[in-house]
Amino acid sequence: MQTNIKEYDESFDLTQALQKKGTKEYGFIHLAQRANGSWVNIPIMLAVGAQDGPTLVVDACNHGDEYEGTEGIIKTFEGLDVSKMKGSFIGIPALNAEAFAEMKRYNTLDFVPQDLNRIYPGGTGPMTAYVCSWYCENIIKKADAVICIHGGGNSEYLEPVVLYCGEESPVAYKSREMAQCFGFKVLWKNTRYAENSGIEDEYAYQMGIPCITPEIGGQCTRMYQRDEHKQMLETGIRNVMTLLGILEGSVPANEGVHHYDIDYIYNRNGGIHVPVKKAMDSVRKGDTLSIITNLFGEEVDRVIAPFDGVVIGYWTYSVCPPHGWVYMVGKPVDGE
Ligand SMILES: [Zn+2]
Repeated sequence: MQTNIKEYDESFDLTQALQKKGTKEYGFIHLAQRANGSWVNIPIMLAVGAQDGPTLVVDACNHGDEYEGTEGIIKTFEGLDVSKMKGSFIGIPALNAEAFAEMKRYNTLDFVPQDLNRIYPGGTGPMTAYVCSWYCENIIKKADAVICIHGGGNSEYLEPVVLYCGEESPVAYKSREMAQCFGFKVLWKNTRYAENSGIEDEYAYQMGIPCITPEIGGQCTRMYQRDEHKQMLETGIRNVMTLLGILEGSVPANEGVHHYDIDYIYNRNGGIHVPVKKAMDSVRKGDTLSIITNLFGEEVDRVIAPFDGVVIGYWTYSVCPPHGWVYMVGKPVDGE
């Protein structure tokens, strides 16, 4: 089988790669060898426009089981005509390629497993922290805008939602514009950037780069909505490319969006998790969100809505661990 996969090493220079105007290429950036001699890679897809313009970086699989973004990036890359582009699309279809292959949220080959999207800007080790720091230094810092795609992974359902920076600054306003044009109807206004939680969009914001985080799907949606979600991501990415002037045309209006401030709701005891409230259900403070039973059918916990809001996501795996995030509930944001 023939492939067109390029091999790059750690000295890969995005600035130099962007000089190859009007070309498309893709390949693996080799970062380090495992003990068995195989490589830990970052896969990269480069669609360099024929004319100068901004660079949009789009990544997926910070969490290895969130494949919607992977497929959305591949589909977007395939559909781009670089001869008509003013600027470039850089796709990272699986940043956490180890976890991607393991079909897990984390790379369990790390001696101490890390949540990649909680450790930005990374560090020297373990491997996942190094992937993070290499990516920050060599790719994100050279971007004009970033889209990091997440989703429900193997265990959660998520209503399609786009997180944007809700701070008051030109970079935040650009992030909001990107979220607005993406096409999803639920927007997540994040005003907690000061918490320094090691999340990619927060890191990008600190670097002065507008960033959004679309979240979509999960294993429970893939039987029927896989193609639909892939299409929604391609449309959203292309809309942002149009907003940035990389693609020609005007950005379609996205009417009827709702802005929420979204909180994770935790259970206490693990067990068999039965959701009562489902996606986009309105809830009142005190309502039962889900019931958790033990192996004998006895109720061991009940997850209660802590405020009035709307269910944006929830744990769909039949079993939940203790003190897990089993619900995401959004409070409507006034004045948006
Ligand atoms: Zn994620």
